[in-house]
Amino acid sequence: MSWNYLQRLREYRDQESGLETKTAPVRVALCYPNVYSVAAASLGFQVVYRMINEAPEMSASRAMIPDEDMADELPAGGVLTLEEEKPLASYPVVAFSISYEMDLVGIIQLLGKAGIPHFGTERTDEDPFVLVGGPMTLSNVLPLQPFADAVVMGDAEAVLPAILEILRSADSHAERRERLAEVQGVYVPEHHGWDVPDPNVAGPEYLPAYGTFWSPQSELTNMFLVESSRGCPQYCKFCVVRSANTPMRYPDAKEILQTIPSEAPRVGFVGAAVSEYPQIKELLTACVDRDQEIGLSSLRADVLDDEFVELLVRGGARTMTIASDAPSELQRSRLAKGLKERHLIHAAELARKHGLHRLKVYSIIGLPGETDEDLDELARFALEMSRIHKVTLAVNPLVPKLRTPLATASFCPIPDLNRKIKRLRKKAGGRVDFRFLSPRWAWVEAMLSLGGPETGLAAVEVAEAGGGFHAWKAALKQLEQPFAARSFAEETGRSSWLPRR
Ligand code: SF4
Repeated sequence: MSWNYLQRLREYRDQESGLETKTAPVRVALCYPNVYSVAAASLGFQVVYRMINEAPEMSASRAMIPDEDMADELPAGGVLTLEEEKPLASYPVVAFSISYEMDLVGIIQLLGKAGIPHFGTERTDEDPFVLVGGPMTLSNVLPLQPFADAVVMGDAEAVLPAILEILRSADSHAERRERLAEVQGVYVPEHHGWDVPDPNVAGPEYLPAYGTFWSPQSELTNMFLVESSRGCPQYCKFCVVRSANTPMRYPDAKEILQTIPSEAPRVGFVGAAVSEYPQIKELLTACVDRDQEIGLSSLRADVLDDEFVELLVRGGARTMTIASDAPSELQRSRLAKGLKERHLIHAAELARKHGLHRLKVYSIIGLPGETDEDLDELARFALEMSRIHKVTLAVNPLVPKLRTPLATASFCPIPDLNRKIKRLRKKAGGRVDFRFLSPRWAWVEAMLSLGGPETGLAAVEVAEAGGGFHAWKAALKQLEQPFAARSFAEETGRSSWLPRR
């Protein structure tokens, strides 16, 4: 066994603050299909860790993809768990938290390196039971079908205690699958096939979700995470939150503040609509008053004012992130985004006035019916913003998601996206700091987000070939029906998969 790898695991463990561990007879390897720094920044991963440790006779040990420089240092049984330093195959249950489609390769690699058969149909009671949950389950879980014994759809809080009890008490994996298929919002491929249940939506009584530790090795350095709200009051047509995790729910600020350890150096408020939480300024003020730095995910431009931005600056923020989400006013109104250009301009003025270093703005291109005029409006708008303040414009291709009104939209072809990017660069490049997400990788994500089990099977070939784009291209191009899930939903009229426009 490599000493370097063990040393790295121990460093990670030793640098965590606030974590409570447990050892119990029924052990769960809780895996994140990405590296430690990303896993440590996942609030959902931390919440499930705590819930497993709170279950009778059960305990969790975390595992993740090794850092790139450690990939060749793994022992024969693949990655080891952080807490127990044991291989995944030695656990009766291996659970994964999957955030988005591209992490599927990580699941396949972790199983393969551990010597655990990839496919549920090939595993026996001697192998671990494979449970999957996480944000990706709000949309399309069919690519997971070949690998998972069971998938927890959507919010786990309300159903996880019952799931853990079944995992603990059943005598065989067959019994586990049979009993789990009866739990609301649990997808058991062997039982449900294509008939995927709708995701669970946890009520406000399960909030706030809050973290279990903070670490300097997290990509959110030394940040304690707490969820101020769940769901969103807006209805953007491309967004899975609006259709699969609605309405917006939130606890009182006092309850949220009680979960935050006073010794945590930084506090990250998590939520799809964090700036629309009615008591957000109260939360920020409380943290700033006790010298805690604050971090917020993307903000809604039309709720920002002097007091809000000043609190961010007092809480150590150097940048602020907002979303325009479409290249033009017309496209924003088609998406039901509800934001006007003047709101975005005002955000840039606030960023300058309060001394933030930079404003980051997200936009989407490749929308249905998008024209060159829309793109020219984005270029003009970007130039105007950059005259006010330093702006980074992150431009992502639309990746249609199942369970959204845009699920039936076509992914804009890669050559068209490349042409759009070229046009934006020509009109405003040099004076605007553009960041473009690769159209090629967006295409892979789109294939998985609307694909069926066949895209999951394609991912096995990709994982074996190292996960590069050319491996994806070769594997996905072979598929006869690349958008199987969407076609199935259209044919069968599964309205919950394809909500009305
Ligand atoms: S504001 Fe954000 S979270 Fe809310 S529906 Fe729109 S994209 Fe989704």
